[in-house]
Amino acid sequence: MGVGDKEGRRDETAELARRRGFIWSAFEVYGGAAGFYDYGPLGTLLKRRIEEKWRDFYRREGFYEIETTTIAPREIFESSGHLESFTDPAVRCKECKSIFRVDENLTVAVKCPECGGGLEASGEFHLMFQTRIGAGKDKGKGGSDEEAIKRSEGYLRPETAQGIFINFQRLLKFNRDKLPFGILQIGKAYRNEISPRQSLIRLREFTLAEVEVFVDPAADKNNHPRFEEVEDRMLSLVVPGADEAEEKSVEDAVSSGIIANEYLGYHIARVDEFLECIGLPRARLQFRQHQQDEMAHYAIDCWDAEFLSERYRWMEIVGIADRGDYDLSAHARSPNVNMHVHTESGEIIPHVIEPSYGIDRIIYALLESAFYEEQIGKEKRRVLRFKREIAPIQVAVFPLLNRDELKSKAVAVFRMLRDAAIAVEYDNSGSIGKRYRRQDEIGTPHCVTIDYETLEDNTVTVRERDTMNQVRVAVPELKDVLE
Ligand code: AMP
Repeated sequence: MGVGDKEGRRDETAELARRRGFIWSAFEVYGGAAGFYDYGPLGTLLKRRIEEKWRDFYRREGFYEIETTTIAPREIFESSGHLESFTDPAVRCKECKSIFRVDENLTVAVKCPECGGGLEASGEFHLMFQTRIGAGKDKGKGGSDEEAIKRSEGYLRPETAQGIFINFQRLLKFNRDKLPFGILQIGKAYRNEISPRQSLIRLREFTLAEVEVFVDPAADKNNHPRFEEVEDRMLSLVVPGADEAEEKSVEDAVSSGIIANEYLGYHIARVDEFLECIGLPRARLQFRQHQQDEMAHYAIDCWDAEFLSERYRWMEIVGIADRGDYDLSAHARSPNVNMHVHTESGEIIPHVIEPSYGIDRIIYALLESAFYEEQIGKEKRRVLRFKREIAPIQVAVFPLLNRDELKSKAVAVFRMLRDAAIAVEYDNSGSIGKRYRRQDEIGTPHCVTIDYETLEDNTVTVRERDTMNQVRVAVPELKDVLE
């Protein structure tokens, strides 16, 4: 969400998001640093609402959440394959020496976006942030200085999943030694992205919400107990080589082998459902299957849920992968790690189905798709059309005029709603029109105004954001009407 894009067009959503306290470039007073953003008060409220909705959604699947560390010793990522494979190809400008990530728009055949110079291949760039755990001189385990230093090497996690995998045996026991089961985790992940210039899309520190479902490949993969709940859901699917999405039911996509198995199909459908329920327009969502050479080092079949951004075209917001037994097998090669499960078919290593949500990209998509502007007389009305459940502020309460009798009644109504666990804001500054506009801009679905009629008959005006319609509601009924 840079303020101007390549064509110099102003990004109104970005301007609003910054001005109204949704997101800010981090370290702004020190000049900023690419790839880092802070969430302001409204952004934080919005983010928490999405995270809470996500938790509720997956708790309904019977999954538990855990919280593991964000730093891990080198050997974790040595085993997981990240140390070797978690890289991006880079190109370097021969003139200004800027380094860029290779993607479909930027290859050696293209000129440097900064200075127009020629580009050359610059090898693979490692995406994990390295750190030291302790003083690095612990020779307690023997060996040379060099070995001691290597032992102290740590990395910031690039995904939350590894924290779940390495706790697999404990989690299995928690689940009474039975498959399948799912584990959730929401938390920060860190990737030292090569050239992050796309605001919330490519961050160096971002929030992942990940689900790891452990299944018995023989018994479970083509037999999801609740598949019928999702089988008729229509999805927009783009397969490798196709230019456009094709509409298919989940059932069709699985039975024709486009989606590798029922379990993966079930979770792709649930991702689609979640994105719809937080308010992303379905017409701007599609699922794109990875080509063989594009898949992460761990994946068997992988799909991206993509959002059609006005600015960045189709962008990945959720990755859904069948990781096979890659991760558990990889850790099981370490001497003291056991990842086996006894099932009816014998001793197996479970497979993992993983929906991995990028929360920041989802917030970007929500801001972009909720933003709406209209001309009213000489004025522009800017609105964020959030669904009520995710709006940072759900109700604003105003006294019509700054008079004590109106203010004290307005404060009483404000407190009543606040005590009913509604996210409510009180505002008595500026004209009533200005106050409406302020709330429209941050996506508040309802405004409640206290006027002289209120003092007579205990009714208030409730104004709805999108239609701007106003109705009178009796104060004792207000809470129910708003909900
Ligand atoms: P991945 O593990 O690469 O499939 O990433 C999972 C999800 O995390 C993606 O679908 C994105 O939504 C999000 N994501 C990945 N990298 C970044 C990044 N650098 N900044 C923000 N979100 C990201």
